[in-house]
Amino acid sequence: MSLDPYKVLGVDKNADMATVKAAYRKLARQYHPDMNPGDPVAENKFKKISEAYDILSDPTKKQEYDNLGREAFYERGFGGTGYQRPDFNKGGFSFEEIFSELFGSRHSGDGSGCRSSHAEPRKGEDVNTKLAISLKEAALGTETTLKVEFFETCLACRGRGLAVGSGGQPRSCPSCGGQGRLKHLQSLKTKIPAGLKDGQIIRLRGQGASNPTGGGRGDLLVEVLVKPDLIFTRQGKDLSTELSVSLYQALLGGMVEVPTLTGRATLKLPSGGTQNGTRMRLKGQGLPATPKEAAGDLYVTLKVLLPTKLSSEAKKIVASLAKVAPLLEEEK
Ligand SMILES: [Zn+2]
Repeated sequence: MSLDPYKVLGVDKNADMATVKAAYRKLARQYHPDMNPGDPVAENKFKKISEAYDILSDPTKKQEYDNLGREAFYERGFGGTGYQRPDFNKGGFSFEEIFSELFGSRHSGDGSGCRSSHAEPRKGEDVNTKLAISLKEAALGTETTLKVEFFETCLACRGRGLAVGSGGQPRSCPSCGGQGRLKHLQSLKTKIPAGLKDGQIIRLRGQGASNPTGGGRGDLLVEVLVKPDLIFTRQGKDLSTELSVSLYQALLGGMVEVPTLTGRATLKLPSGGTQNGTRMRLKGQGLPATPKEAAGDLYVTLKVLLPTKLSSEAKKIVASLAKVAPLLEEEK
């Protein structure tokens, strides 16, 4: 079978590319197997239309055809080897082009709908995820295994959801079931550096979605959420906490234990009375030092607890204490 592509598409020999395209688009729509299921005549016609377009849309092939004429083009044309009819079964013919012509892009906006054979290789899409960590993990750094599920363009059909079936008929892509995209589970060990702030984003290069145009994977953007802590609140590099001490510890002074990020520290209360609400500083017990910043401090606000019940004996002692150490004018 050697067809006259001009006749098949019904265009003049001098028709420009836009006219060829328009003619092809109109006929391909009309005879597309999807529009004519189970109709072998339409299927055959569709193949002819496709082949005609294959020749006329390629300037080199078109010129050879014009120069050699129909018979010679099929026998000797194309570098002396004769015209190779597109292999519909192996998809050697650019069906993708037809599909994009006919159906447009399935992923409008991300660029994968461009004619992939001509498109610049571009990176896949960036993927966003969130990771909740404790204040301690944020302060000291940690290592975690991130598991991220996302969809990425099906490489088999380049996102179009269509494959070339037997006899050149388009059918659902078997890899993605016609969805054009596939679920991808990315699991990777990630180091979370020390000193991260709530809402900070870590960019893991090349761990995002892939792109069939060959530009490599996009990035994975991890938004780090620091969970509120029961003991500490954070102000930059510094931490603060509240510590309950008894009235007697506050009055007599001595050593008390304070929780820190990494364990415990001791705090010396002065002898002779510490007021409720006193703020004391433990130097260097905030967030650890980084190459850029010195370590932060831990601020401890003391909460002095009073006894809630006093025996009659205790009352007598407190009364005599009030006499020997009066605080206000009326106690004297
Ligand atoms: Zn697919």
